[in-house]
Amino acid sequence: MMPTNTGTLTQYLIELRRHKPQATGDFNELILQVALACRSIAKRVAHGTLRESLGGVIGTNVQGEDQKAIDALSNEIFLATTEWTGVVSGMVSEEMEDVYRIPAELPRGKYLLLFDPLDGSSNIDVNVAVGSIFSILRAPRPGEDPSVEDFLQPGTEQVAAGYAIYGPATMLVLTVGEGVVGFTLDPETGDFFMTHPDIRVPENACEFAINASNSRFWEAPIKRYVEECLAGKTGPRSKDFNMRWIASLVAETHRILMRGGVFMYPRDTKDPIKPGRLRLLYECNPVGMIIEQAGGRASTGEIPVLEAQPSSLHQRIGFVFGSRNEVELIEHYHAHPQARSPEPEYDTQLFGERGLFREWASH
Ligand code: MN
Ligand code: MN
Repeated sequence: MMPTNTGTLTQYLIELRRHKPQATGDFNELILQVALACRSIAKRVAHGTLRESLGGVIGTNVQGEDQKAIDALSNEIFLATTEWTGVVSGMVSEEMEDVYRIPAELPRGKYLLLFDPLDGSSNIDVNVAVGSIFSILRAPRPGEDPSVEDFLQPGTEQVAAGYAIYGPATMLVLTVGEGVVGFTLDPETGDFFMTHPDIRVPENACEFAINASNSRFWEAPIKRYVEECLAGKTGPRSKDFNMRWIASLVAETHRILMRGGVFMYPRDTKDPIKPGRLRLLYECNPVGMIIEQAGGRASTGEIPVLEAQPSSLHQRIGFVFGSRNEVELIEHYHAHPQARSPEPEYDTQLFGERGLFREWASH
């Protein structure tokens, strides 16, 4: 039986270069090297604890989170696979406090690479899907060492973004600004084959994902949205919802890309110095670009996440993304402060009328 693929990642990039002038050889080289880094990480992750205890805690990262051996190793793999190419001028990683400087003897290129080398690693011991996330920006000063400010570009400036998911199958999901394409790693040949040529997020959803243990810290619009989902068929939404929570951003993103839904890690009042949980530059922006390119919506709750102006490398932000109509509803609740003290019967008149809901949702 013929496999259901339409060529490899390399073929995709070569064809892209034929019709997209900005897809230069340098750009293609960078994507291919990132894919190789992901393939190496996939291999190490797949060994579990057979070879060494990669799940062991070796310290804390800049953000005060446990750093595991596998986090540090994945970071090393990203650096070593891409720094020699001459196509990046500097990098930013979740695992490094400062901008990573390319070694002096190597050339600097025209791109900036930002990444979370291993997302979801706090769950690696329980053997659930983890992943790597990356974002590519143009270097404002190609060929030179970049400054912190050079990386503080809004997500709209990304030239490409993607993630690899190390699940039952390893996949690479990529956008270069022309929709979203999914590749599956053939474990025998080591090639990424295109298996999902045009990923689209369904506009509507009846699945939501949120860490409900934080509900007492949520902002009113999020409380309201979730309460309405929980009210199900007899509530204002007039339909039943399911809840999911994997606590792995890559896995949540992948599920939403495959079958719709909404993910929320909103800003909350739990820890006032952390305005949100997820990091803007190497988590929210790349996931946001992928979701928007797939026809979904990615938001801080108030504004499109890709329009947020970054202020620091490891900045955190509230993040809501997924099926377009659900995210627009949450934004609508943020824009309407009367939702501050939600009552079960707060506005059944307005939203009980399906027509009215449709009217604004289609704007
Ligand atoms: Mn992460
Ligand atoms: Mn990580």
